[in-house]
Amino acid sequence: MCVIFVICPSHTTYTMADQSLAHTNEPQKNTDWHAYTTEQTQHALNTQVNGLSNEEVTQRQQLYGFNQLIAPKKRSAWMRFFMQFHNILLYIMLAASAVTAILGHWIDTFVLLAAVLVNAIIGFIQEGKAESAMDAIRSMISARATVIREGVRKEINALELVPGDLVILNSGDKIPADIRLTSARDLRVEEAALTGESVPIQKSTNAVASDAPLGDRTCMAYSGTVAVYGQASGIVVATGTYTELGKINEMLSSIESMTTPLLRQINAFGRALAIFILIFAAALFLFGVFLRGYSASDMFMMVIALTASAIPEGLPALITITLALGVQRMARQHAIVRNLPAVETLGSVSVICSDKTGTLTRNEMTVQRIVSSLHVYDVSGIGYAPQGTVYQNDQPVSCATDTILERIVRIGTLCNDAQLVNDTPPRIEGDPTEGALLVLGAKAGLVQQDAPSQWQRLDSIPFESEHRYMATYHQDENSLPWILTKGAPERIFEMCSSQMSAHGISPLDIDYWRRMVTDTAAKGLRVLALGYKQAEPQAEQISTDDIDSGGFILAGLVGIIDPPREEAIAAIRECHQAGISVKMITGDHVETARAIGAQLNIGVDKPAMTGAEISVLDDQELSRVIMDVDVFARAAPEHKLRLVQAMQEQHQIVSMTGDGVNDAPALKRADVGVAMGQKGTEAAKEAADMVLTDDNFATIAKAVREGRTVYDNLKKFILFMLPTNGGEALVIIAAIFLQFTLPLTPAQVLWINMVTSCTLGLALAFEAAEPNIMTRPPRASSEKLLSGFFIWRIIMVSVLMMAAVLTLFLWELSHGTAENTARTIAVNTLVAAEMFYLLNSRHVYDTVLSREGLLGNKYVLLSIAACFALQLLFTYLPAFQYLFGSTALDLTQWLKVFAGGVFVFLVAELEKWIIRRFISLKPAT
Ligand code: ATP
Repeated sequence: MCVIFVICPSHTTYTMADQSLAHTNEPQKNTDWHAYTTEQTQHALNTQVNGLSNEEVTQRQQLYGFNQLIAPKKRSAWMRFFMQFHNILLYIMLAASAVTAILGHWIDTFVLLAAVLVNAIIGFIQEGKAESAMDAIRSMISARATVIREGVRKEINALELVPGDLVILNSGDKIPADIRLTSARDLRVEEAALTGESVPIQKSTNAVASDAPLGDRTCMAYSGTVAVYGQASGIVVATGTYTELGKINEMLSSIESMTTPLLRQINAFGRALAIFILIFAAALFLFGVFLRGYSASDMFMMVIALTASAIPEGLPALITITLALGVQRMARQHAIVRNLPAVETLGSVSVICSDKTGTLTRNEMTVQRIVSSLHVYDVSGIGYAPQGTVYQNDQPVSCATDTILERIVRIGTLCNDAQLVNDTPPRIEGDPTEGALLVLGAKAGLVQQDAPSQWQRLDSIPFESEHRYMATYHQDENSLPWILTKGAPERIFEMCSSQMSAHGISPLDIDYWRRMVTDTAAKGLRVLALGYKQAEPQAEQISTDDIDSGGFILAGLVGIIDPPREEAIAAIRECHQAGISVKMITGDHVETARAIGAQLNIGVDKPAMTGAEISVLDDQELSRVIMDVDVFARAAPEHKLRLVQAMQEQHQIVSMTGDGVNDAPALKRADVGVAMGQKGTEAAKEAADMVLTDDNFATIAKAVREGRTVYDNLKKFILFMLPTNGGEALVIIAAIFLQFTLPLTPAQVLWINMVTSCTLGLALAFEAAEPNIMTRPPRASSEKLLSGFFIWRIIMVSVLMMAAVLTLFLWELSHGTAENTARTIAVNTLVAAEMFYLLNSRHVYDTVLSREGLLGNKYVLLSIAACFALQLLFTYLPAFQYLFGSTALDLTQWLKVFAGGVFVFLVAELEKWIIRRFISLKPAT
């Protein structure tokens, strides 16, 4: 909620800035705006009371450019390409190619170099994909700014701000540019981003000395800092790189982290594995040369091939892509992930705490009930169309004949910052609660536009969840002063000593009102009380003292319906099935919260708790009871923080939503902080891991589903990748140990590695969610990726692949097949086994022996087709035959290759069946 502060025209004479600077580049270079008076600033930038004209904005945009900081210089494409060689495996292969060149093994040198190059190109393309996916997401998070242009207040992308723009600031806003304040109501700004000072600074409009340090320039609000309290307006004096933030060249934070716990786990695993393989390869080299009598040069090439086949070098890049693809899918579903690890954490969320208004409910408010000291009225009509009637005992009533009703409706329309826009259908600009009161006014014949001329508004205190009321100061047509207020009933009752009644004014009958509040709230209506007093503010402006001094007269109550979102009801059901508890945290009355909760199936048959009750519990007590309560009412932001901590104490993985500036600590503390994209403040968005562009609870459930899918796919992918490397390595190790002809030459190993990493693995990133994804419990956060089962599966499949290849190879040799042909069969068998195992990997436990299982992922089929085409080239292309020593195969030989693949496939399916049938491991994945 906010007030438009009007800048008073100046009466001062200028000492400086007599000339308008607006049409030169001077304003951007001026560093002394804090020493200018507000009038001088207006004059210098040629800013009128109504803000800039659209024409002026266009001109200034051309002159000054966009309000953006220059992004830190990205690594050039070349640099990125060369960085691909900075990799332990490629170092080894480069060294090996040098050695082979010295030995004069030119073909090997060529193959090694080609493999190095292809590896680098694949890495380059994959990294590029991951980077552009992240860039696309970054650009979705753009800051907004509220400006007045041509007398109209509107919200724009902060990029479009120009010097001279008249900007409105509210608590929670991130300051979008450097601004000279022209009016300020209790504005406090947290300037840590700029000065390191985390205590908010109180701002005013008075000019300060020109040599004042940044932290003392109290009349300025600097870009990148955050308004944590109050409201203000001001004139933009510097944009983009000319702002103080631009000068220190800090990017406004967008996506915070590019790594995730899983990636770190994988990187560490990859490093440990690489070291192990290197040591193992060195030992094998010595073993082969000294104990088995292989020639040093043959053995050297063999261990190089082994190293190349065993190190899963593509794993981190492919994991990043899988995560980035998940992030893109979430963005399409209105959930923008600001923090990559959140994708993983989402998959293990066990509690979702959600605001009520707008997230679980539609935020389309309609007044349905009015309560005065004499009557209860019903109001017909739904939505923002101003068609409906006020009834009392089923008889239409009018404000003209009912003075109490007239006063209630009048306070509702005047103590109001929203606007009813007569579009088709009619819509509200501003707070829907206030919009509902405007629609009530229209139904009762009190039109907002007419009222101000009779009851001119002179000042106001906007609504803030913290104090739960709004107040305005007016002068009526007889110049009598009035202070009007509306807000949460308990708060308004505190201010009131009397009430409107049949005989004018009578003492407040608090019991009656409390009863009526409970009665109205129990129907699921949001209740507001409305009061007034005939008084002037004690000081120049209306302040909280005028409210706290009391003496108000209670006019009545209104009950506003805000129906639950249908999709939220379905999403809550889904969450419950997925073992996730859903808690509602609302600022509303406990009875309203309970009634809405019942409609949503939250907290049924459980106690509800209020903010006051949370306050009296200590941390231990709170953590003991917290999992038994699902509805928290009259809760303030500080309660949210305690709730998150208490749930985490109970080992829950908590997602918490928020929109206000004071929600930021709770969002930061939560495992997945979720901010509202539409009604959320910039401060909340900055603190959050995820932003909902549609403010809808159902989107959180979708994101959880997506998070679980991404994690599943990563597991599937790892479970595919590691055994394929393992299989290749085992074939070679077995041959060396058992001292028979090597089934794969080094060049062939490099070929297999290249072919499969180009084609197969990535297809699993596109795997759709498993059918049971939202019916199984959340993954335990302590769950290790490489569980005992994973290690078993990796070893089993590696051995299967080795068995298929060696059996066929040795069988061929024993039946007199030429070595080259036997090797060609071995290579094709290994690749075929990997292709078939890719199908197995689509489901970790479930069978893929179904139409969906075999044909369900077109990327899997495409990559198998591509891989097969490459194998045909390998087998038949003369150049490749020369390079890799391959030979053409006949149909029977191809059938054997096929049989080798089918063997691995069927045994892997059998293993899944045994696990499903006899070992109940399944629910965990
Ligand atoms: P939720 O946390 O579910 O989103 P909320 O944020 O809408 O709830 P608040 O906005 O803090 O809750 O509102 C708390 C109470 O303040 C409401 O129950 C109502 O009585 C009162 N209230 C809400 N909006 C206004 C307003 N614009 N003016 C005056 N009082 C209001």
